[in-house]
Amino acid sequence: MSIAYWRERNRYYRILGSKCKECSAEFFPPVYKCRKCNSEKLAEQEMPKEGKVMAYTLSRDIITGFEDQEPMIIGLIELQNGVKMVAQIADASADQLAVGDKVKAVFRRVSVNGEAGQIFYGYKFVKIDK
Ligand SMILES: [Zn+2]
Repeated sequence: MSIAYWRERNRYYRILGSKCKECSAEFFPPVYKCRKCNSEKLAEQEMPKEGKVMAYTLSRDIITGFEDQEPMIIGLIELQNGVKMVAQIADASADQLAVGDKVKAVFRRVSVNGEAGQIFYGYKFVKIDK
């Protein structure tokens, strides 16, 4: 996990996806071939940091390394550019959330590798209070 993590950390730090140079469609995670027009001319594109909750679920089946975050709220988020992504929603309980709530990406501690004490950071989403 750790080698892949370091190789791909920009994707997690900056929410780096891709944008088609032919039709301007944007994707996350990044793709090597446009799913809209099949072009292979794509460039890295940072995703917008705000979006809205389309759906969410409370997960009690936490994967190893994330037990301290149980129960975890996993949301389907539509970013401002229309790209949909699945991400953790932090700092809220399920009854404080509603479909349509606005959220923004924040940089957080994601997990700690217990053996080595290595800390991984990445993005989560939090509700924007308005
Ligand atoms: Zn395209």
